[in-house]
Amino acid sequence: MTTLRLRPRRAAVFSLHTSPLEQPGTGDAGGMNVYIAQTARRLAAFGTEVEIFTRSTSSDIPPVVELAPGVLVRNVVAGPFEGLDKHELPSQLCAFAAGALRVEARHEPGYYDVVHSHYWLSGQVGWLARERWGVPLVHTAHTLAKVKNAALAEGDEPEPRSRVLGEEQVVAQADRLVANTAVEAADLVERYGAATDQVVTIPPGVDLERFTPGDQLAARAGLGLRPDAVVLAFVGRIQPLKAPDVLLRATAALLERHPELRRDLVVLIVGGPSGSGLERPEALHELAARLGITDVVRFLPPQGGDDLARVYRAADVVAVPSYNESFGLVALEAQACGTPVVAASVGGLPVAVADGVSGLLVPGHGTEQWAEALASVATRPRWRAELAAHATEHAATFSWERTTEALLDTYAEAKRAFHSRLRIEEATA
Ligand code: UDP
Repeated sequence: MTTLRLRPRRAAVFSLHTSPLEQPGTGDAGGMNVYIAQTARRLAAFGTEVEIFTRSTSSDIPPVVELAPGVLVRNVVAGPFEGLDKHELPSQLCAFAAGALRVEARHEPGYYDVVHSHYWLSGQVGWLARERWGVPLVHTAHTLAKVKNAALAEGDEPEPRSRVLGEEQVVAQADRLVANTAVEAADLVERYGAATDQVVTIPPGVDLERFTPGDQLAARAGLGLRPDAVVLAFVGRIQPLKAPDVLLRATAALLERHPELRRDLVVLIVGGPSGSGLERPEALHELAARLGITDVVRFLPPQGGDDLARVYRAADVVAVPSYNESFGLVALEAQACGTPVVAASVGGLPVAVADGVSGLLVPGHGTEQWAEALASVATRPRWRAELAAHATEHAATFSWERTTEALLDTYAEAKRAFHSRLRIEEATA
C-alpha cells in the first residue's frame, strides 16, 4: 500500500491523440480511453486529483470539461480541430506541449506532482513536462511499434521509424514504464532497452458493476434476436489489426461444415471504422457478401455502457481474433458478462483469457482453426456453460481499483527514482 504522504495531490495525465470524452470503439478511441477514464475516476476517489490533457478536436468543446468529481479534461488547441490523421500528430507535439505548459504556468509552482503519459506521442510531451516541472514521468505505451510491426495484418502499413525513435526516447526518459502484461514488460526491456526495475506490470481492470452476467434471453430480445439463435460477436474498432475478417471467414467455413446452423446463426460486428485498410466501413460488408454470409451478419455502430453489456450477454461467444493486442479489454468485459471468449493467442490475450477455462486461445488466424474453435464452444451448450461460469470468475480477478492502487504505488516509486536520478545528474554535472 502506498503511504498517504507519498500519494500525489494532483496528476497531469497526457492523452494527446484521443480523448476520454469520446465514445470508444471507433476511430482512435478504444481501450486506452477506457483505461484513462476508469483509472482517473478512481485516482480522484482515492484523493489524487487528475487533469487529463488531450488535443481538442472540435470548436464546440469547451477548454475544460469535468469528467467526474476531481477529474478535469483539458482540451488543448494544437492544430486544426478536424481532419488531422494520427500519423500527422507528431507535427503538433510542440503546439500541444506549449498549451500544457501554459496551463501549468497559471498555477503556483509544483501544481502537478506527477505526469502520466499514454502512448508515445504523449510520452514526448511528458518528457518535456518532466524536465520543465521537475516531476516524475510515468509512461504507458499501450502499443509498441516494434511489436506491432512484427505481427502486421495483411495489407497493414508498418509503423514508421520516427515512431520507433520517439518510443525509444520516451523509454529512456521515463522514471517508470507501466506495462499491461509481463510480455509487454519483456518487450520494453528486450526490444527497447528499458531497465528491468524501470518497468512495472499492472494489469488493467474491468468495470464489474456495468459488466455483469444477465438474462441472455432479455438481451437477445433487446437486440431483436431469436431466443434460440447461435450468436457470435465481435466488438471493437474495425481495423485490419483487430481482424474481424477472420471471424467472417471462419463463419463461412463453419456454415460449410454445419449447413444446419444457417437458420440459427447470427454474427454481430459491433464497432466503427478505424485505422488503415479496412477503414472503409463497406469493406467488411463486401467481404460478407463475397463469402455468401450477408444473411447471418449484422453490423452495429459502436455501443456504449449498458447497450454494450447487452451485446456481450446476448452472445454465445465473443471472438477476439486480433493480430496484436496489448491487453484486450473486450475479452475481459465479455467474460465479466458471463460470455466465453475465443481469442487469438497474442499479446495480452493469454492473460485476459484462461485457455480452456474461461474461453479458448487459438494459436494463429487460420480459417479452419477459427471455425473449429468457434463451433466447439458455440455448439456444445454444456461446455459453453462451464466456460461461462469460469469466465465470470476469471474476470472478477481484475478490477480498476486494483489497477489504480498499483498506479499510485508506481507514482511513489517514480518520485523516488526521479529524485535519485536528479542527485546523480547534479553530482556528475
Ligand atoms: N468499446 C465500446 N463500444 C464499442 C466497441 C468497443 O465502448 O462499440 C470499448 C470496449 O468496451 C473496450 C474498448 O472499447 O473497453 C476496446 O478496448 P480493447 O482493449 O479491447 O481494444 P483497443 O481499442 O484498446 O485496441
